[in-house]
Amino acid sequence: MKQVAQIAAILKTLDDYYPQNVVCYLDHETPFQLLVATILSAQCTDDRVNLVTPDLFKKYQTVDAFATASLEEVEQAVKSTGFYKNKAKNIIACSKRLVEVFNGEVPSDIDQLTSLAGVGRKTANVIRGNIYHIPSVVVDTHVKRISIRLGLTLHDDPVQIEMDLMAILPSEHWIRYNTQIIAHGRAICIARGPKCSQCMFLNICPFGLRRLLEELPAEAHDALAKGHMY
Ligand code: SF4
Repeated sequence: MKQVAQIAAILKTLDDYYPQNVVCYLDHETPFQLLVATILSAQCTDDRVNLVTPDLFKKYQTVDAFATASLEEVEQAVKSTGFYKNKAKNIIACSKRLVEVFNGEVPSDIDQLTSLAGVGRKTANVIRGNIYHIPSVVVDTHVKRISIRLGLTLHDDPVQIEMDLMAILPSEHWIRYNTQIIAHGRAICIARGPKCSQCMFLNICPFGLRRLLEELPAEAHDALAKGHMY
């Protein structure tokens, strides 16, 4: 696990290179629309979700409209986001519970949010951070991958990663850590083929330094093994 000074350096670098204001990559106009968009974003890109939601939200304009929608029609409307049968079923069930239990409003409480169909901690934290501005760590695919590479967590499970990050990051960074890391993941620390040689974290990133070492020629490894400095 990283030292406090290294964590502070990572956060400062993120602030230097990426926007500090929180950017939401999923288009929405209401808390409920963000909830639906986030459910659709599981195993799917934000860009794909943003292509689907304009027509979806035009067809179903309220929570009630989703709650009473035909399952087959919602399935067709969200088909291109993948796992569409589950997503459509969850969106309708989630909407019904919102109408029946929460008066049609999206709650801010984590337990109430995760009681909704299709809403896990990641989706709940997206809502809490983006809508209610409650410090929350969203562990999506970028945050998971890059936090592991940077050595900020030794875990693979998103919930444990969330706990690790909450333990080491100051709460004022929790919300923007996600959006800054997404920006870094899209630009440099790409899932396959991270651009380590161009990365501002290379000097403190165990994964990047290991890759760099692996790419050194055999003679360099020999020299290092013999302790030659030059
Ligand atoms: S050095 Fe490489 S692995 Fe580490 S954060 Fe940068 S791009 Fe990602």
